Amino acid sequence: MTSLRQAISCVSGYDPDALPVEKANEVMRSFVRPVSGVERLPVRAALGRVLARDIVSPIDVPSHDNSAMDGYAVRSDDLVSGAAVTLTEIGSAFAGKPFDGEVGRGECVRVMTGAVMPKNTDTIVIQEAVTADGPRITVPPGQERGQNRRLAGEDLQKGKPALRSGRMLRPADIGLVASLGIGEVSVRRKLKVAFFSTGDELVSVGKKLKAGEVYDSNRYTLWGMLERLGCEVVDLGVVRDDPAKLEAAFRKAAAGADAVVTSGGVSVGEADFTRQMMAKLGEVAFWKIAMRPGRPMAFGRIRARGRSAYLFGLPGNPVAVMVTFYHFVRGALLHMMGRSDTDLPLLRAKAEMAIRKKPGRTEYQRGILQRRNGEWTVRLTGAQGSGILSSMSEANCFVVLGHEQGAVEAGDEVDVMLMDGLV
Ligand code: AMP
Ligand code: MG
Repeated sequence: MTSLRQAISCVSGYDPDALPVEKANEVMRSFVRPVSGVERLPVRAALGRVLARDIVSPIDVPSHDNSAMDGYAVRSDDLVSGAAVTLTEIGSAFAGKPFDGEVGRGECVRVMTGAVMPKNTDTIVIQEAVTADGPRITVPPGQERGQNRRLAGEDLQKGKPALRSGRMLRPADIGLVASLGIGEVSVRRKLKVAFFSTGDELVSVGKKLKAGEVYDSNRYTLWGMLERLGCEVVDLGVVRDDPAKLEAAFRKAAAGADAVVTSGGVSVGEADFTRQMMAKLGEVAFWKIAMRPGRPMAFGRIRARGRSAYLFGLPGNPVAVMVTFYHFVRGALLHMMGRSDTDLPLLRAKAEMAIRKKPGRTEYQRGILQRRNGEWTVRLTGAQGSGILSSMSEANCFVVLGHEQGAVEAGDEVDVMLMDGLV
Protein backbone atom coordinates (compact mmCIF):
# COMPACT_ATOMS: atom_id res chain seq x y z
CA MET A 1 0.00 0.00 0.00
CA THR A 2 1.33 3.44 -0.87
CA SER A 3 1.55 5.98 1.90
CA LEU A 4 -0.18 9.34 1.72
CA ARG A 5 3.23 10.96 1.62
CA GLN A 6 4.07 8.94 -1.50
CA ALA A 7 0.75 9.78 -3.16
CA ILE A 8 1.38 13.45 -2.49
CA SER A 9 4.94 13.34 -3.79
CA CYS A 10 3.62 12.23 -7.21
CA VAL A 11 1.59 15.43 -7.59
CA SER A 12 3.50 18.31 -9.13
CA GLY A 13 3.21 21.77 -7.59
CA TYR A 14 1.65 20.47 -4.35
CA ASP A 15 0.95 23.29 -1.92
CA PRO A 16 -1.28 22.31 1.02
CA ASP A 17 -2.11 25.95 1.72
CA ALA A 18 -3.41 26.76 -1.77
CA LEU A 19 -4.25 23.44 -3.36
CA PRO A 20 -6.11 23.55 -6.68
CA VAL A 21 -9.18 21.28 -6.84
CA GLU A 22 -7.62 19.03 -9.50
CA LYS A 23 -4.50 18.44 -7.40
CA ALA A 24 -6.53 17.47 -4.33
CA ASN A 25 -8.50 15.03 -6.48
CA GLU A 26 -5.28 13.65 -7.94
CA VAL A 27 -3.92 12.89 -4.46
CA MET A 28 -7.18 11.22 -3.44
CA ARG A 29 -7.43 9.11 -6.58
CA SER A 30 -3.91 7.82 -6.30
CA PHE A 31 -4.32 7.04 -2.59
CA VAL A 32 -7.69 5.30 -2.27
CA ARG A 33 -8.05 1.65 -3.31
CA PRO A 34 -11.18 -0.26 -4.32
CA VAL A 35 -12.54 -2.71 -1.76
CA SER A 36 -11.83 -6.30 -2.71
CA GLY A 37 -14.87 -8.15 -1.36
CA VAL A 38 -17.25 -9.67 -3.91
CA GLU A 39 -20.71 -11.16 -3.48
CA ARG A 40 -23.08 -13.07 -5.78
CA LEU A 41 -26.58 -11.61 -6.01
CA PRO A 42 -29.77 -12.34 -7.92
CA VAL A 43 -30.00 -9.86 -10.80
CA ARG A 44 -32.68 -7.60 -9.32
CA ALA A 45 -30.85 -7.30 -6.01
CA ALA A 46 -27.83 -6.08 -7.97
CA LEU A 47 -29.56 -2.91 -9.21
CA GLY A 48 -27.31 0.04 -8.36
CA ARG A 49 -24.38 -2.20 -7.43
CA VAL A 50 -21.01 -2.35 -9.16
CA LEU A 51 -20.14 -5.32 -11.36
CA ALA A 52 -17.05 -7.13 -10.07
CA ARG A 53 -16.40 -9.18 -13.23
CA ASP A 54 -17.15 -8.84 -16.93
CA ILE A 55 -20.35 -10.51 -18.04
CA VAL A 56 -19.54 -12.60 -21.11
CA SER A 57 -22.49 -13.43 -23.30
CA PRO A 58 -23.19 -17.20 -23.35
CA ILE A 59 -25.52 -16.82 -26.37
CA ASP A 60 -26.27 -14.65 -29.37
CA VAL A 61 -29.06 -12.13 -28.74
CA PRO A 62 -31.31 -12.44 -30.61
CA SER A 63 -30.59 -16.11 -31.04
CA HIS A 64 -32.21 -16.27 -34.53
CA ASP A 65 -32.82 -13.90 -37.43
CA ASN A 66 -36.36 -12.63 -36.85
CA SER A 67 -38.94 -10.18 -38.05
CA ALA A 68 -38.90 -6.62 -36.73
CA MET A 69 -42.47 -5.96 -37.95
CA ASP A 70 -45.85 -7.55 -38.59
CA GLY A 71 -45.98 -8.38 -42.31
CA TYR A 72 -44.87 -10.96 -44.84
CA ALA A 73 -41.55 -12.80 -45.06
CA VAL A 74 -40.44 -13.03 -48.69
CA ARG A 75 -37.48 -14.16 -50.78
CA SER A 76 -35.82 -11.03 -52.12
CA ASP A 77 -34.98 -12.92 -55.35
CA ASP A 78 -38.70 -12.97 -56.10
CA LEU A 79 -39.01 -9.19 -56.02
CA VAL A 80 -38.65 -7.13 -59.16
CA SER A 81 -37.39 -3.58 -58.85
CA GLY A 82 -39.85 -1.12 -60.29
CA ALA A 83 -42.81 -3.54 -60.47
CA ALA A 84 -45.37 -5.08 -58.16
CA VAL A 85 -45.17 -8.85 -57.56
CA THR A 86 -47.89 -11.20 -56.44
CA LEU A 87 -46.89 -14.04 -54.11
CA THR A 88 -48.80 -16.93 -52.51
CA GLU A 89 -49.18 -17.05 -48.74
CA ILE A 90 -48.41 -20.59 -47.57
CA GLY A 91 -48.57 -20.23 -43.80
CA SER A 92 -47.82 -18.06 -40.82
CA ALA A 93 -45.20 -17.62 -38.07
CA PHE A 94 -45.51 -16.00 -34.65
CA ALA A 95 -43.02 -15.07 -31.96
CA GLY A 96 -42.31 -18.42 -30.31
CA LYS A 97 -44.21 -20.37 -33.05
CA PRO A 98 -42.01 -20.72 -36.12
CA PHE A 99 -43.13 -21.76 -39.60
CA ASP A 100 -41.84 -25.29 -40.10
CA GLY A 101 -41.78 -25.66 -43.86
CA GLU A 102 -39.59 -24.22 -46.59
CA VAL A 103 -40.58 -21.24 -48.66
CA GLY A 104 -40.36 -21.87 -52.40
CA ARG A 105 -40.20 -19.46 -55.31
CA GLY A 106 -43.23 -17.21 -55.57
CA GLU A 107 -44.28 -17.96 -51.98
CA CYS A 108 -44.44 -15.92 -48.77
CA VAL A 109 -45.32 -16.41 -45.09
CA ARG A 110 -47.40 -14.16 -42.86
CA VAL A 111 -45.19 -13.19 -39.86
CA MET A 112 -45.63 -11.33 -36.60
CA THR A 113 -42.96 -9.25 -34.87
CA GLY A 114 -40.33 -11.50 -33.28
CA ALA A 115 -41.15 -14.55 -35.44
CA VAL A 116 -38.11 -16.51 -36.63
CA MET A 117 -37.43 -15.83 -40.34
CA PRO A 118 -38.96 -18.79 -42.27
CA LYS A 119 -36.49 -20.90 -44.22
CA ASN A 120 -35.27 -19.25 -47.48
CA THR A 121 -36.76 -15.82 -46.66
CA ASP A 122 -34.59 -12.77 -46.01
CA THR A 123 -36.89 -9.75 -46.22
CA ILE A 124 -40.04 -8.52 -44.47
CA VAL A 125 -42.69 -6.48 -46.25
CA ILE A 126 -44.84 -4.67 -43.70
CA GLN A 127 -48.50 -5.62 -43.72
CA GLU A 128 -49.68 -2.05 -44.43
CA ALA A 129 -47.77 -2.10 -47.76
CA VAL A 130 -49.38 -5.18 -49.34
CA THR A 131 -52.74 -5.87 -50.95
CA ALA A 132 -54.20 -9.21 -49.92
CA ASP A 133 -56.76 -11.10 -51.97
CA GLY A 134 -57.23 -14.38 -50.12
CA PRO A 135 -53.81 -16.08 -50.21
CA ARG A 136 -52.67 -13.85 -53.07
CA ILE A 137 -50.40 -11.15 -51.66
CA THR A 138 -49.33 -8.30 -53.92
CA VAL A 139 -46.11 -6.56 -52.91
CA PRO A 140 -45.54 -3.06 -54.34
CA PRO A 141 -42.18 -2.09 -55.86
CA GLY A 142 -39.49 -0.30 -53.83
CA GLN A 143 -38.68 -3.00 -51.22
CA GLU A 144 -35.08 -3.43 -50.10
CA ARG A 145 -33.36 -6.76 -49.57
CA GLY A 146 -33.04 -7.55 -45.86
CA GLN A 147 -35.43 -4.84 -44.68
CA ASN A 148 -37.25 -5.14 -41.33
CA ARG A 149 -35.20 -8.16 -40.36
CA ARG A 150 -33.25 -8.42 -37.10
CA LEU A 151 -30.09 -10.45 -37.38
CA ALA A 152 -29.00 -13.10 -34.89
CA GLY A 153 -26.38 -11.58 -32.55
CA GLU A 154 -27.06 -8.00 -33.62
CA ASP A 155 -27.63 -6.99 -29.99
CA LEU A 156 -25.06 -9.19 -28.20
CA GLN A 157 -22.63 -11.75 -29.54
CA LYS A 158 -21.79 -15.06 -27.92
CA GLY A 159 -18.36 -15.03 -26.23
CA LYS A 160 -18.03 -11.25 -26.18
CA PRO A 161 -18.25 -9.14 -22.99
CA ALA A 162 -21.77 -7.76 -22.73
CA LEU A 163 -21.01 -5.63 -19.64
CA ARG A 164 -17.64 -4.69 -18.21
CA SER A 165 -16.65 -4.90 -14.56
CA GLY A 166 -16.69 -1.52 -12.84
CA ARG A 167 -20.09 -0.67 -14.21
CA MET A 168 -22.91 0.40 -11.93
CA LEU A 169 -25.93 -1.69 -12.90
CA ARG A 170 -28.84 0.40 -14.12
CA PRO A 171 -32.31 -0.85 -15.14
CA ALA A 172 -31.17 -1.35 -18.76
CA ASP A 173 -28.20 -3.41 -17.54
CA ILE A 174 -30.19 -5.81 -15.37
CA GLY A 175 -32.56 -6.27 -18.33
CA LEU A 176 -29.60 -6.98 -20.57
CA VAL A 177 -28.25 -9.54 -18.09
CA ALA A 178 -31.68 -11.21 -18.06
CA SER A 179 -31.72 -11.23 -21.89
CA LEU A 180 -28.67 -13.50 -21.67
CA GLY A 181 -30.50 -15.92 -19.41
CA ILE A 182 -28.20 -15.08 -16.50
CA GLY A 183 -29.84 -15.03 -13.08
CA GLU A 184 -26.97 -14.09 -10.74
CA VAL A 185 -24.09 -11.63 -10.97
CA SER A 186 -20.90 -10.89 -9.01
CA VAL A 187 -20.83 -7.40 -7.51
CA ARG A 188 -18.45 -5.63 -5.18
CA ARG A 189 -19.49 -5.61 -1.58
CA LYS A 190 -21.11 -2.43 -0.30
CA LEU A 191 -18.86 0.27 1.01
CA LYS A 192 -19.31 0.94 4.73
CA VAL A 193 -19.08 4.63 5.53
CA ALA A 194 -19.26 6.11 9.03
CA PHE A 195 -20.02 9.78 9.54
CA PHE A 196 -20.42 12.27 12.36
CA SER A 197 -20.72 15.97 13.00
CA THR A 198 -18.44 17.92 15.30
CA GLY A 199 -19.24 21.11 17.17
CA ASP A 200 -20.19 22.30 20.67
CA GLU A 201 -22.94 24.45 19.15
CA LEU A 202 -24.80 21.55 17.54
CA VAL A 203 -28.16 20.30 18.71
CA SER A 204 -29.93 17.24 17.36
CA VAL A 205 -33.40 17.54 15.88
CA GLY A 206 -36.07 17.14 18.55
CA LYS A 207 -34.38 19.28 21.21
CA LYS A 208 -34.95 22.99 21.92
CA LEU A 209 -32.38 25.50 20.66
CA LYS A 210 -30.64 27.73 23.20
CA ALA A 211 -28.89 30.98 22.30
CA GLY A 212 -25.99 30.37 19.93
CA GLU A 213 -26.97 26.79 19.13
CA VAL A 214 -27.82 25.40 15.68
CA TYR A 215 -29.52 22.25 14.57
CA ASP A 216 -27.20 19.67 13.11
CA SER A 217 -28.20 19.62 9.45
CA ASN A 218 -24.97 18.16 8.07
CA ARG A 219 -25.81 14.73 9.39
CA TYR A 220 -28.92 14.83 7.22
CA THR A 221 -27.32 16.08 4.00
CA LEU A 222 -24.40 13.67 4.48
CA TRP A 223 -26.69 10.77 5.25
CA GLY A 224 -28.72 11.56 2.10
CA MET A 225 -25.70 11.84 -0.17
CA LEU A 226 -24.14 8.63 1.17
CA GLU A 227 -27.39 6.68 0.90
CA ARG A 228 -27.86 7.83 -2.67
CA LEU A 229 -24.35 6.67 -3.53
CA GLY A 230 -25.34 3.22 -2.35
CA CYS A 231 -23.16 3.03 0.76
CA GLU A 232 -23.90 1.17 3.96
CA VAL A 233 -24.14 4.15 6.29
CA VAL A 234 -23.16 4.29 9.97
CA ASP A 235 -24.31 7.41 11.84
CA LEU A 236 -22.02 8.16 14.79
CA GLY A 237 -23.99 11.23 15.87
CA VAL A 238 -22.71 14.58 17.12
CA VAL A 239 -19.30 14.67 18.75
CA ARG A 240 -18.32 17.58 20.98
CA ASP A 241 -15.15 19.61 20.32
CA ASP A 242 -13.34 17.62 22.96
CA PRO A 243 -10.11 15.83 21.95
CA ALA A 244 -10.84 12.68 23.96
CA LYS A 245 -14.39 12.31 22.58
CA LEU A 246 -13.21 13.04 19.06
CA GLU A 247 -10.43 10.51 19.33
CA ALA A 248 -12.84 7.85 20.55
CA ALA A 249 -15.20 8.55 17.64
CA PHE A 250 -12.41 8.39 15.08
CA ARG A 251 -11.13 5.13 16.54
CA LYS A 252 -14.58 3.58 16.43
CA ALA A 253 -15.01 4.67 12.80
CA ALA A 254 -11.56 3.47 11.74
CA ALA A 255 -12.14 0.05 13.30
CA GLY A 256 -15.54 -0.50 11.74
CA ALA A 257 -15.80 1.29 8.39
CA ASP A 258 -14.05 1.64 5.05
CA ALA A 259 -14.28 5.43 5.15
CA VAL A 260 -15.16 8.16 7.63
CA VAL A 261 -16.73 11.46 6.65
CA THR A 262 -16.87 14.22 9.25
CA SER A 263 -18.03 17.81 9.20
CA GLY A 264 -16.53 20.71 11.13
CA GLY A 265 -13.37 21.00 13.15
CA VAL A 266 -10.94 21.54 10.26
CA SER A 267 -11.13 25.35 10.02
CA VAL A 268 -8.11 27.39 11.13
CA GLY A 269 -9.32 27.89 14.70
CA GLU A 270 -10.08 24.22 15.28
CA ALA A 271 -7.58 22.41 13.11
CA ASP A 272 -4.77 22.43 15.62
CA PHE A 273 -6.16 19.96 18.11
CA THR A 274 -7.62 17.81 15.35
CA ARG A 275 -4.22 17.81 13.71
CA GLN A 276 -2.49 16.61 16.88
CA MET A 277 -4.95 13.81 17.33
CA MET A 278 -4.70 12.74 13.70
CA ALA A 279 -0.95 12.48 14.03
CA LYS A 280 -1.63 9.76 16.65
CA LEU A 281 -4.23 7.91 14.60
CA GLY A 282 -2.70 7.87 11.17
CA GLU A 283 -1.65 9.87 8.20
CA VAL A 284 -3.77 12.90 7.48
CA ALA A 285 -3.07 15.99 5.40
CA PHE A 286 -4.73 19.32 6.21
CA TRP A 287 -5.47 21.36 3.13
CA LYS A 288 -6.63 24.80 2.23
CA ILE A 289 -8.16 24.20 -1.15
CA ALA A 290 -8.30 26.95 -3.75
CA MET A 291 -12.06 26.78 -4.03
CA ARG A 292 -15.24 28.40 -2.85
CA PRO A 293 -17.10 27.31 -0.89
CA GLY A 294 -15.19 24.70 1.09
CA ARG A 295 -11.66 25.84 1.68
CA PRO A 296 -10.39 23.77 4.63
CA MET A 297 -10.36 20.01 4.38
CA ALA A 298 -8.54 17.03 5.87
CA PHE A 299 -7.79 13.85 3.99
CA GLY A 300 -5.91 10.67 4.80
CA ARG A 301 -6.15 7.33 6.53
CA ILE A 302 -6.62 6.53 10.18
CA ARG A 303 -6.13 3.24 12.04
CA ALA A 304 -7.55 1.50 15.06
CA ARG A 305 -7.58 -2.09 16.29
CA GLY A 306 -5.66 -3.32 13.27
CA ARG A 307 -8.16 -1.86 10.79
CA SER A 308 -8.03 1.34 8.81
CA ALA A 309 -10.39 3.77 7.09
CA TYR A 310 -9.96 6.64 4.70
CA LEU A 311 -10.80 9.94 6.31
CA PHE A 312 -12.56 12.88 4.69
CA GLY A 313 -12.69 15.78 7.15
CA LEU A 314 -15.07 18.28 5.57
CA PRO A 315 -15.64 21.87 6.65
CA GLY A 316 -18.63 22.58 8.89
CA ASN A 317 -20.57 25.07 6.82
CA PRO A 318 -23.63 23.32 5.38
CA VAL A 319 -23.06 24.31 1.73
CA ALA A 320 -19.32 23.64 1.97
CA VAL A 321 -20.10 20.12 3.21
CA MET A 322 -22.21 19.36 0.17
CA VAL A 323 -19.87 20.99 -2.34
CA THR A 324 -16.78 19.21 -1.01
CA PHE A 325 -18.70 15.95 -0.84
CA TYR A 326 -19.79 16.16 -4.48
CA HIS A 327 -16.48 17.33 -5.85
CA PHE A 328 -14.04 15.21 -3.80
CA VAL A 329 -15.65 12.56 -1.64
CA ARG A 330 -18.11 11.28 -4.24
CA GLY A 331 -15.38 10.43 -6.76
CA ALA A 332 -13.14 8.86 -4.14
CA LEU A 333 -15.94 6.70 -2.70
CA LEU A 334 -17.04 5.58 -6.17
CA HIS A 335 -13.45 4.60 -6.86
CA MET A 336 -13.46 2.60 -3.62
CA MET A 337 -16.67 0.90 -4.77
CA GLY A 338 -14.86 -0.23 -7.90
CA ARG A 339 -16.73 2.11 -10.26
CA SER A 340 -14.89 2.84 -13.48
CA ASP A 341 -17.12 5.69 -14.62
CA THR A 342 -16.98 8.51 -12.10
CA ASP A 343 -16.69 11.65 -14.21
CA LEU A 344 -19.66 13.95 -14.57
CA PRO A 345 -20.41 15.91 -17.71
CA LEU A 346 -20.22 19.69 -17.77
CA LEU A 347 -22.74 21.43 -20.00
CA ARG A 348 -22.54 24.96 -21.38
CA ALA A 349 -25.26 27.50 -20.66
CA LYS A 350 -25.66 31.22 -21.12
CA ALA A 351 -25.33 33.27 -17.91
CA GLU A 352 -28.43 35.39 -17.37
CA MET A 353 -26.49 37.73 -15.12
CA ALA A 354 -22.97 38.95 -14.43
CA ILE A 355 -21.08 36.77 -11.91
CA ARG A 356 -18.17 38.07 -9.84
CA LYS A 357 -15.17 35.75 -9.82
CA LYS A 358 -11.44 36.08 -9.18
CA PRO A 359 -8.91 33.88 -10.96
CA GLY A 360 -6.95 31.50 -8.71
CA ARG A 361 -9.72 29.37 -7.26
CA THR A 362 -12.53 27.14 -8.47
CA GLU A 363 -16.04 28.25 -7.55
CA TYR A 364 -19.18 26.16 -7.35
CA GLN A 365 -22.03 28.61 -7.36
CA ARG A 366 -25.57 27.37 -7.08
CA GLY A 367 -27.65 27.92 -10.19
CA ILE A 368 -31.01 27.36 -11.79
CA LEU A 369 -30.72 26.03 -15.30
CA GLN A 370 -33.70 26.44 -17.58
CA ARG A 371 -34.60 26.50 -21.23
CA ARG A 372 -35.59 29.92 -22.49
CA ASN A 373 -36.48 30.72 -26.09
CA GLY A 374 -34.79 27.57 -27.29
CA GLU A 375 -31.51 27.90 -25.37
CA TRP A 376 -30.19 26.83 -22.00
CA THR A 377 -29.66 29.71 -19.61
CA VAL A 378 -28.57 29.78 -15.99
CA ARG A 379 -29.02 32.23 -13.15
CA LEU A 380 -27.69 32.09 -9.62
CA THR A 381 -29.92 31.35 -6.66
CA GLY A 382 -29.83 34.28 -4.24
CA ALA A 383 -27.06 34.74 -1.68
CA GLN A 384 -24.13 32.36 -2.20
CA GLY A 385 -22.74 32.24 1.37
CA SER A 386 -21.38 28.87 2.46
CA GLY A 387 -23.89 28.68 5.31
CA ILE A 388 -26.96 29.27 3.14
CA LEU A 389 -28.34 25.79 2.63
CA SER A 390 -31.45 27.10 0.89
CA SER A 391 -29.18 27.99 -2.05
CA MET A 392 -28.49 24.25 -2.51
CA SER A 393 -32.10 23.32 -2.01
CA GLU A 394 -33.31 25.83 -4.62
CA ALA A 395 -30.59 25.05 -7.18
CA ASN A 396 -30.71 22.40 -9.88
CA CYS A 397 -27.09 22.81 -10.96
CA PHE A 398 -23.66 24.07 -9.99
CA VAL A 399 -22.21 26.89 -12.06
CA VAL A 400 -18.60 25.72 -12.20
CA LEU A 401 -16.16 28.60 -12.59
CA GLY A 402 -12.70 27.19 -13.27
CA HIS A 403 -9.46 27.99 -11.48
CA GLU A 404 -8.20 30.47 -14.08
CA GLN A 405 -11.53 32.01 -14.93
CA GLY A 406 -12.28 35.67 -14.13
CA ALA A 407 -15.54 37.60 -13.94
CA VAL A 408 -18.48 36.50 -16.07
CA GLU A 409 -20.63 39.00 -17.95
CA ALA A 410 -24.31 38.55 -18.64
CA GLY A 411 -24.64 36.61 -21.88
CA ASP A 412 -21.30 34.76 -21.51
CA GLU A 413 -21.35 30.97 -21.64
CA VAL A 414 -20.45 29.14 -18.43
CA ASP A 415 -19.99 25.49 -17.39
CA VAL A 416 -22.81 23.95 -15.42
CA MET A 417 -23.06 20.58 -13.70
CA LEU A 418 -26.51 19.14 -13.15
CA MET A 419 -27.25 18.14 -9.58
CA ASP A 420 -29.65 15.46 -10.74
CA GLY A 421 -27.51 12.38 -11.19
CA LEU A 422 -24.72 13.59 -8.94
CA VAL A 423 -25.62 10.74 -6.65
P1 AMP B 1 -16.56 24.73 11.66
O1 AMP B 1 -16.01 24.25 10.35
O2 AMP B 1 -16.67 23.64 12.67
O3 AMP B 1 -15.81 25.92 12.14
O4 AMP B 1 -18.05 25.22 11.36
C1 AMP B 1 -18.30 26.26 10.46
C2 AMP B 1 -19.75 26.71 10.53
O5 AMP B 1 -20.60 25.64 10.15
C3 AMP B 1 -20.20 27.15 11.91
O6 AMP B 1 -21.05 28.27 11.75
C4 AMP B 1 -20.98 25.96 12.41
O7 AMP B 1 -21.97 26.31 13.33
C5 AMP B 1 -21.59 25.42 11.15
N1 AMP B 1 -21.79 23.98 11.32
C6 AMP B 1 -20.81 23.11 11.67
N2 AMP B 1 -21.31 21.86 11.74
C7 AMP B 1 -22.62 21.95 11.43
C8 AMP B 1 -23.68 21.00 11.33
N3 AMP B 1 -23.46 19.71 11.58
N4 AMP B 1 -24.90 21.43 10.98
C9 AMP B 1 -25.11 22.74 10.72
N5 AMP B 1 -24.17 23.68 10.81
C10 AMP B 1 -22.93 23.31 11.17
MG1 MG C 1 -16.86 23.51 14.66
